[in-house]
Amino acid sequence: MALDLIKATALILALSLLQGFNARFWGERHAARAIGSGLIFGVMCVVGMMMPITLTPGVIFDGRSAVLSMAALFGGPAVGAIAGAVAAAYRLHLGGGGALVGVGVITVSVLLGLLMRMLVSRGKVAPGFLPFLGLGVVVHVVALLFFLGLPGDTAKRVFETLALPYLLTLAPATALLGMLLLDLDERQRTGKALRDSEARMRAITEAVPDVLMVLDEDGRYLKIRAPDEKLLVADAESLNGKLMTDVLPPEKAAMFQDYVRRTLQSDSAQVLEYTLDTRGGPRVFEARARALDVTFEGRRAVVLLTRDITERVRLEEEQRIAAIAFESQQGMMITDAYSVILRVNKAFTAITGFSAEEAIGQRTSLLASGRHDTAFYRAMWSKLHADGVWEGEIWNRRRNGEVYPERLSISAVRNADGMVTHYVAAFMDITFSKAAEDEIRRLAFYDALTGLPNRRLLSDRLGQAMASTSRNSRHGALMFIDLDDFKNVNDLLGHHNGDLLLQKAGARLRDIVRETDTVARFGGDEFVVLLADLPEHSIDAAQQAERVAEAMLAALNRPYVLDGQTRQTSASIGIAMFSGSTHSIDEMLRRADLSMYESKQRGKNRLHFFDPVMQETVTARLRLEDEIRSGLATRQFCVHYQAQVENGRGIVSAEALARWRHPDKGFIPPAQFIPVAERAGLMSALGQQVMEDALQQLARWAHKPEAAHLSVAINISAAQLYQSEFADSVLEAISRTGAPPGKVVLELTESILLGDVDGAIDVMQRLRARGIRFSIDDFGTGYSSLAYLQSLPINELKIDRSFVRNLPASEGNLAIVRAVVALASALDVKVIAEGVETEGERNALAGNGCQFFQGYLFARPLPADEFEGLLREDLLRAR
Ligand code: C2E
Ligand code: CA
Ligand code: CA
Repeated sequence: MALDLIKATALILALSLLQGFNARFWGERHAARAIGSGLIFGVMCVVGMMMPITLTPGVIFDGRSAVLSMAALFGGPAVGAIAGAVAAAYRLHLGGGGALVGVGVITVSVLLGLLMRMLVSRGKVAPGFLPFLGLGVVVHVVALLFFLGLPGDTAKRVFETLALPYLLTLAPATALLGMLLLDLDERQRTGKALRDSEARMRAITEAVPDVLMVLDEDGRYLKIRAPDEKLLVADAESLNGKLMTDVLPPEKAAMFQDYVRRTLQSDSAQVLEYTLDTRGGPRVFEARARALDVTFEGRRAVVLLTRDITERVRLEEEQRIAAIAFESQQGMMITDAYSVILRVNKAFTAITGFSAEEAIGQRTSLLASGRHDTAFYRAMWSKLHADGVWEGEIWNRRRNGEVYPERLSISAVRNADGMVTHYVAAFMDITFSKAAEDEIRRLAFYDALTGLPNRRLLSDRLGQAMASTSRNSRHGALMFIDLDDFKNVNDLLGHHNGDLLLQKAGARLRDIVRETDTVARFGGDEFVVLLADLPEHSIDAAQQAERVAEAMLAALNRPYVLDGQTRQTSASIGIAMFSGSTHSIDEMLRRADLSMYESKQRGKNRLHFFDPVMQETVTARLRLEDEIRSGLATRQFCVHYQAQVENGRGIVSAEALARWRHPDKGFIPPAQFIPVAERAGLMSALGQQVMEDALQQLARWAHKPEAAHLSVAINISAAQLYQSEFADSVLEAISRTGAPPGKVVLELTESILLGDVDGAIDVMQRLRARGIRFSIDDFGTGYSSLAYLQSLPINELKIDRSFVRNLPASEGNLAIVRAVVALASALDVKVIAEGVETEGERNALAGNGCQFFQGYLFARPLPADEFEGLLREDLLRAR
């Protein structure tokens, strides 16, 4: 009987293994798992009841009480209830007298199991063999008590035969079953914990950006995990199981082998920095390795985490380079966006004198020299804003106040949004280089002896002048000047005096030309002068060039004092005119040079134009000058008289106008010979003759009753007025001819008077004291200024011909006439209009207060006898 009990118990224990399968099968699905578990426990009870110990028919003993108490203890109320229900149903189905007692035992077993579960969960009891045994004893003692309720002597027989084996078998069986279930439970719990921690580990390793490798002591890849296979030398799959010596270059393999060995010998992590040609190109890595506790196929191994630090290394390198660059020879300064200095280098301190402590926190205006205006800085900032860089030369001030030039470049640093965050300034003190540059410039472009520009600079300026004349269609002139017989000075007085003479000659040339012209020395005794910006009209331009050249000849002719000795020398000049860049620079120089030789050939001390037309005008003019000279000698000049009329009174005076009766060309008008005579310095002689003639005529008229009232107006040129003996010569001529001084009027133009106002006033006052009157000729065309008019002893204003024309139609002219008349009346002087050709003009003048006229309307300039005829007619008409 006891053996049967043990068999039943063994079967139950075996079936309990099904619980492990059930738990794995359902996993985390708790309800299904509870139902399955309850059914298994129920079936275990049923199987027990199928092979029971039958004491009397209807009364059976089996292991259900052990099973159910454990089902309730491990599975909880649901599992216990399901298992209990299945067991109770089957017991009721078997029926018999013990059925109800059997159901009672089932119920009590579940309840006691639940009670135990409660104690365990509250920590009152710890699960284990003895508590389970205790539960088994209690359950089965209570079951035995239930058997007392069996009818008749059955209860008595139970206690006599079965009670002891029942208790001794099923109580330990309960404990054993408990231990099996406990083990099952624990195994499941540790399995889950293991699975969880593995999943966590995987998640963690996958999140690491590093390459993870396990290498054994031979250098064999056991495991590789890479976030990016580009970081490996080959794909992870193919590396697995290979030796490093098979895939890495020998020296790298050796290095890693050594590294693995070091790691295995140490119990701390080993660090290694290395470069490797990976699938993604050469990279820099930092590895950390640690020896593993486990072995792989008997070999020790290390785990190695390696990180791509290429970018970091690059940045560090850049920083290192930047730091070295920052401490360069150049002054460096970093500011924020508001020009506040953040950082300076040692060169900054060396150049500016400000230490880092003094400079940092200050604004860059700390260095301002005050030499640049706001426009300069405004231009600098607008360039910086537009282009992000500025470069240039700037004057700054050192700490000791000294102002110095520096070459400065500023760069703006922008952030990702394009906002300027910093400015970086690099600068160099160019005090010395600027001086050196000036010196080099001087040596390269200037002649050492005279300090004048040399051939190179002249060529440069000639090119510029040619380009500029091609734009504005004006003219330029290039002159070659060679001192005549300079060799003699050198030979006779020595090189020292030769040099001195060259310096003086250069200075004289320089004095004659304008600031914008260039006087250069070509070595030896050759000078080259470049005149820029000459008039548009070629003849005008050539004449201006010629005037300058003549002035140069005169200047070079002046005596030189050398070592106490006086020397005189002349020069020859060749002139080539240009407008635009039709000829090359060399061709221009060649032309001027050739023309200079021409001058020499023609007898030195003269100028010669390259251009034949130019030369012809010069030659013609020179011929004219000669003819004027001989004309003066042979008295070819005479005087014509043009009537001056007072409104309603007839002829009151005459203007004396010079005429040239040329032996071949007939009458030549003054416009053609007066400017030439002026240039040739012949004007005073000519003026003298006119004056003589006019005064003689005046004296004659003074004795003729019909002409005795006439005054004569004589034109005076600048050359005459400013001659020191002018006033004396006039007075002498008057007394010699016997002309009445009160009838003499001298016509002067405004421009003549402005030459030397004080000198002119002196002369005029001396003459006026003798009754001579003065008229301002061509009035209105010069620089009329009330102030100077008031200070001049004048008697008459002569309205210029150009203002008479088109009267009264021209409103502008009318306004001028009115103004001159008003001015004359304010100054209390007479006003006369010249060039009156029409009645309309006369009437307009008269209507506006001008009562004196001269012009073709009344008479042309006439020889004296014809003029006298006119005078007679006029008198007859007046009667
Ligand atoms: P000017 O002193 O302004 O002389 C007036 C000029 O205007 C004269 O020209 C005369 O002939 C001209 N003329 C007079 N009425 C009319 C007119 O109704 N219509 C026009 N179209 N012209 C008129 P001319 O004689 O040829 O003299 C020219 C200039 O030469 C003079 O201008 C004067 O500046 C200068 N000149 C003449 N003779 C002498 C002289 O003996 N000594 C000096 N220094 N200059 C003189
Ligand atoms: Ca005149
Ligand atoms: Ca005039």
